[in-house]
Amino acid sequence: MNHLCDQRVMGAKRFAKGFGTRAVSTLLNDPSRLSGGSVVGRRNKPFKWILMGAVMALGLLVQACAPQQAPQESCNFMMSSDQQRISWGPQTPAVLYVDSSVPAEFFDSIRSAVEHWNQSVGREVLKIGGWTNSYPNENQDGVNVIYWRKNSWPDNKDKQAVTTIYWAADRLFEADIRINDVNFDYFSGPTPIANRVDFESLILHELGHVLGLSHQEVGASVMAMRLENAVLRRTPSQKDINDVKCEY
Ligand SMILES: [Zn+2]
Repeated sequence: MNHLCDQRVMGAKRFAKGFGTRAVSTLLNDPSRLSGGSVVGRRNKPFKWILMGAVMALGLLVQACAPQQAPQESCNFMMSSDQQRISWGPQTPAVLYVDSSVPAEFFDSIRSAVEHWNQSVGREVLKIGGWTNSYPNENQDGVNVIYWRKNSWPDNKDKQAVTTIYWAADRLFEADIRINDVNFDYFSGPTPIANRVDFESLILHELGHVLGLSHQEVGASVMAMRLENAVLRRTPSQKDINDVKCEY
């Protein structure tokens, strides 16, 4: 039964930034997919009743282990299947390591973006764990890492970065960021450079995903999906600040 509960509420999602469409959610075992009647209707009768019984039993189990919490406002956060904001909760600061593949010229941009989110919340919700080559596994390994991809980019070439978050129930437990240096060029420092993307604006956006935020296009949100060349968007908007303070 516990195993069922765990499965129902675990998930992973990839956010891709750039000019492409949003990555498809890979939420595992969404209970809404278990309760549909249309599949049942196509079966022969005995099988139909067995299947309906199984679905109902599964529904009861799911209901029995669902937390009794009132639905929350999203505040632009990812939402769990029981309508709770998905975040690190009290497990802050979330510690991120910077892989040694990330060029040193961008260290200050990462520090600055982390500091902007911490200032927005009013306390330390993100922390740099250090620069390291100890965590080369870009998949789920229990460590939050920023990677720099300069030789190969497996995703759509229009995406500047991909952030993958992992959660169980409504708690994040891992986030990894990959930067696409194959198809884009970046700049640091105060002066925009034509035909290059502002790395600090990009990493600020990706760190918003690390905190649990989704995309939004209202106002001057740093969570807007598109980031054009030479555009500086290095400060969370008032809406971004209000959103993140809903949870932290
Ligand atoms: Zn994004």
